[in-house]
Amino acid sequence: MAVHGIDLGTTNSAIARTGPDGRPQVLAGMSGKPTTPSVVLFASPGEHVVGEGARREARLDPEHVCALVKRRMGDAQWRFVAHGKPWSAPAVSSLILRSLVADAGFATGETPGAAVITVPAWFGDEERRATVLAGTYAGLDVVDVLSEPIAAALAYGFGRLDGSPELAKGPAHETVLVYDLGGGTFDATVIELADRRISVLAVEGDHQLGGADWDERVALHLARRFCAENPDAEDPLDDSAGAQALVLAAERAKHQLSDVERTDVVVTHDGARATVTLTRDELEEMTAPLLRRTVDLTRACLVEATRRGVPRVDRVLLVGGSSRMPAVADALLTELDLDARLHDPDLAVARGAALYGEKKELERMVAADLRTRGRLRDGAPLEDAADADLDGACRRVADAYAVPLAQVRRAVEIRVDTVVSRGFGVLAVNSAAGRLEPTWLVHRNDRLPIRTSRSFGTMRADQSEIQVTVVEQQGQAESSRPEDAKVLVVGDITGIPPGYDEGAEVRVTFEMGFDGVLHVTAFHVDADIPLTLTATTGATLSQAEVARERDQLGKQRRRG
Ligand code: AMP
Repeated sequence: MAVHGIDLGTTNSAIARTGPDGRPQVLAGMSGKPTTPSVVLFASPGEHVVGEGARREARLDPEHVCALVKRRMGDAQWRFVAHGKPWSAPAVSSLILRSLVADAGFATGETPGAAVITVPAWFGDEERRATVLAGTYAGLDVVDVLSEPIAAALAYGFGRLDGSPELAKGPAHETVLVYDLGGGTFDATVIELADRRISVLAVEGDHQLGGADWDERVALHLARRFCAENPDAEDPLDDSAGAQALVLAAERAKHQLSDVERTDVVVTHDGARATVTLTRDELEEMTAPLLRRTVDLTRACLVEATRRGVPRVDRVLLVGGSSRMPAVADALLTELDLDARLHDPDLAVARGAALYGEKKELERMVAADLRTRGRLRDGAPLEDAADADLDGACRRVADAYAVPLAQVRRAVEIRVDTVVSRGFGVLAVNSAAGRLEPTWLVHRNDRLPIRTSRSFGTMRADQSEIQVTVVEQQGQAESSRPEDAKVLVVGDITGIPPGYDEGAEVRVTFEMGFDGVLHVTAFHVDADIPLTLTATTGATLSQAEVARERDQLGKQRRRG
């Protein structure tokens, strides 16, 4: 059973899997379209529609249409209320995932059970967990969450390995900048492709910046022009259906202006009408600050890569639908002297996720083969296996599952190294400042996997309890202000016997694997006894909520 790759995008989503020849194939549903708009229409209390139908309906029934839900992932408080029922971001996302699963079933006759779901590189722990939760709600076994730029680089790197004539011309060792401007998010990532190793060197991004912001600016312009021509008519932006219609018209015009220099937009509202001529120059002028921000973030990403000893990029891959705007490549050339090319902007991420899913699946089978033969310890990584054993296992898996041997070897050999997108730390007392402040143990752009420790001192003699508060960096920079840090987990070391001085050592260790999940242990060193850390997370939905939403989704399915 293939592990599918899913690009759960802000505006569009896609599902893919690798075919018998090892190439990633995007699976289209009945509509025949490879991507599905990430939009859900809650048509009635028991019915919902996902995709183009929901997107079209946004104009007529804006109250019941949920779009851009990805921007809400990780926000445990947010709810979309439709027909009196509150829906969390993972619950809404699960409906999109179910629709993709159905499409894949339609395309292949096989219902996906397991998947790799992609997330923006800057997604933190909470957003990743919310994504896994969405997959679980949709009945999927989420094998991993994968960074979107890594997925795009994998698809690109695969094209090279696979002998695609255009891509194979590249050098064996290449540094690639992935500029990913989608509908709601922006990511800049510098990635090193060295033979069969893919390493992320630096990430920058903004999760509130994407094509939708361009649409908003254009819609605002259209509304102003409409109102100027029709002073007695209502402003279309004052009415939710009018605003939705205007935003859709703005997006259409924006798309056209990627191909032509000027276009006419007809705005009708409140019985009045205006024809607004929009040129590409005007579009670029009114959205210049948005583009500038992506250039600034890209520059910061390049600076970080330089700091890591990689001062030059060999290739720039443009992914995400919004990178089709000619202004993007122009700005990268004039501002950063980068020659950027569009690279499968809509489907590279889903394809890369499918390749990664296949890699995970084949790795799992090879590891299982080695373990049953006693050639690999339980829990040990594949790299621990002897070369001859690994080779034998690859052959057996290839034979047993009728997969070409080269494909199994490729899966096992390709290594993906990545970096962490945010800092993590603990709150500790700064005696000089006399207050609790974050101390950062893990820093943004540290390379995964991470294992790092820091020692702290107890506040008092005979301290019987220690509270450990794990925090995540908010915003672009590490800050020493507790209000700038998001509390992820709070745990208590309890039952410390008396007899230890003030300043007794407490060692805190942070470990993070490629899944981005943070494991924290705290240890009272002098007491030399195993102390338990009871960690409760306030970051994701409570178990009760999970159960309730599952029920709600179950009921909807039975009715729908
Ligand atoms: P994605 O999230 O990668 O699917 O990208 C979707 C975004 O790309 C939306 O904001 C679209 O409006 C935008 N987009 C798609 N095609 C074009 C185009 N030809 N010109 C400008 N923007 C586009």
